[in-house]
Amino acid sequence: MEHRIKVDETHLIHASQLDVPPRLLLGPGPSNVDARVLQALAMPEIGHLDPRFIELMNEIQELLRYVWQTDNTMTIPMSGTGSAAMEATLANSVEPGDIVLVGVNGYFGERLCDMASRYGADVRRIEKAWGEVFSLEEIADALKMHRPAILGLIHGETSTGAMQPMEGIGKLCREFNALLLLDTVTSLGGAPVFLDHWHVDLAYSGSQKCISCPPGIAPFTMSKRAVEKLKRRKTKVASWYLDVNLVAKYWGSERTYHHTAPINMNYALREALRIIAEEGLEDRWERHRANAERLYEGLQELGIECHVAKEYRLPSLTTALVPDGIDSKAVSSYLLRKFNIEIAAGLGQLAGKVWRIGLMGFNSRRENVKLLLSALSEALE
Ligand code: PLP
Repeated sequence: MEHRIKVDETHLIHASQLDVPPRLLLGPGPSNVDARVLQALAMPEIGHLDPRFIELMNEIQELLRYVWQTDNTMTIPMSGTGSAAMEATLANSVEPGDIVLVGVNGYFGERLCDMASRYGADVRRIEKAWGEVFSLEEIADALKMHRPAILGLIHGETSTGAMQPMEGIGKLCREFNALLLLDTVTSLGGAPVFLDHWHVDLAYSGSQKCISCPPGIAPFTMSKRAVEKLKRRKTKVASWYLDVNLVAKYWGSERTYHHTAPINMNYALREALRIIAEEGLEDRWERHRANAERLYEGLQELGIECHVAKEYRLPSLTTALVPDGIDSKAVSSYLLRKFNIEIAAGLGQLAGKVWRIGLMGFNSRRENVKLLLSALSEALE
């Protein structure tokens, strides 16, 4: 057969056995995960319609409702990373021409605008400097001016380390007949999130931050109001893969095939959520808060200030201002090279100005704070 490509040296795989360095992940995610989660990931496959898998799906849904503090029926893990679940919230709720108002105070607000525009939204923005948050008055004024179908906010801005206060916003959205969409990628499991109490209609998260599960599966939820908007659509959801009408046939009572669920990622997520439930949300939030405080104090002792005002800091991600005359990249490279510690550089407006230090889920530990501070002190010498 002339068309057959001959296997020669270039096709032979000479890769050695996989070997990865033992990193301590203190950046913006992923975080390290508990050995129990890795063990769950390594469990044997079963079919995605196996009765045991269906039971496991129900268990994951219940655990997700707990971590999100919601009773939403449509609460599922989307197959994909946080961006897939982010896109799912917009793909299902936006119809061409809908006004979508987005709070932009960092990189991920920009991503929301970009995604919404791809689904035909008339995107409006309220903006704040990176590291600041929106006041209730600012949001009320913007709702009054734009009358959006959806208001999108980032709860924990991973690019800035700021956490948006949520009290009162959902109520305002109801008054203005807007759906409230919230990004909880860096807050879920690491800071208080009360979806139902806050009247959030659409939310998503990632598995690899404070949930401490590898990346590849992403919590997603929709309130009754959001499901009603989906049912009223005049146009088809433009993404087949993320269409909740279709996905719900697998996650709801019908249990019919849509796409093959990433079986082992679901095992891992279930275990990570079980660990959260064992610890208890309140204790977990308190652990994140206390370790973040230890980090702030230690940074101050090293002469390093935080970028965000104390009351708006996200406990899972701290933006530490790079002192004058210090090469931020040289320091983070030193930490990786000498200590196997990963921290991250600033993004966008904050590039070169901050380090982003994550204390997320499994990694939010007193010993990690101590280790990082001592390594940082050496790197700064
Ligand atoms: N939203 C926020 C706030 C994030 O921090 C991230 C990832 O860092 C995302 C969305 C996108 O998630 P992913 O990178 O898992 O697709």
